Amino acid sequence: MNEKRQNNYSNFSKDGFNKKSYYQSQEQKEDPDKVRIVPLGGLGEVGRNMMIIEWKEEAIIVDVGLNFPEEKTPGVDYVIPNISYLQKNKKRILGIILTHGHYDHIGAIPYILDKIGNPPLFGSALTLGITQKRQEEFPLQPKLRLNEIKEGDRIELGSFTVEFFHQNHNVPDGHGVVIETPIGNIINTSDFKFDSSPTNAPPTDFDRLNEIASRGVLLLMSDSTGAES
Ligand SMILES: [Zn+2]
Repeated sequence: MNEKRQNNYSNFSKDGFNKKSYYQSQEQKEDPDKVRIVPLGGLGEVGRNMMIIEWKEEAIIVDVGLNFPEEKTPGVDYVIPNISYLQKNKKRILGIILTHGHYDHIGAIPYILDKIGNPPLFGSALTLGITQKRQEEFPLQPKLRLNEIKEGDRIELGSFTVEFFHQNHNVPDGHGVVIETPIGNIINTSDFKFDSSPTNAPPTDFDRLNEIASRGVLLLMSDSTGAES
């Protein structure tokens, strides 16, 4: 983790996400016409990506990842996002978007989904295939509610519309998402690389990105390991 960078985020401390200040801000609920974006992991760190996007009493989630521990935490097999807020508010969850099949984006599903009401999952065929295969290692967990999407698909989840666009990454069949909220569009790029001649999938479609940008972007959430260097 990069401590210097984490200091830029008020809810983050040296130990990661600062639950106290987050829950306090949740309780205040200042302005009901705001979209709330809550990273449960993956911001300022590599791993356990999980982002809540809320509008009034509705919530969608992007990714449910886990993190593999570092040398300073011997005996720990994996680290998952803190979901206590979601457990209290699971009725709000309309669906979970899975961007791609890496474990830092889907790996916590067997540990978390049952605790938050087993909401429906939306992802590409390969992403859902990897997710399902892993779930079979956890026979006591409930059957997953899988919904396959393709590039260009648009799905409605309450007040949100989610549109999927192709991203090139080192696992195929990954997508970024445009999340249309009542106050503007949020772009979550998911993991990506700009590679003009990739071997595993088509390259980034820059015309498509331009078209998405032309609709207006309220917030860009960009995720690419090492991008800052
Ligand atoms: Zn990835």
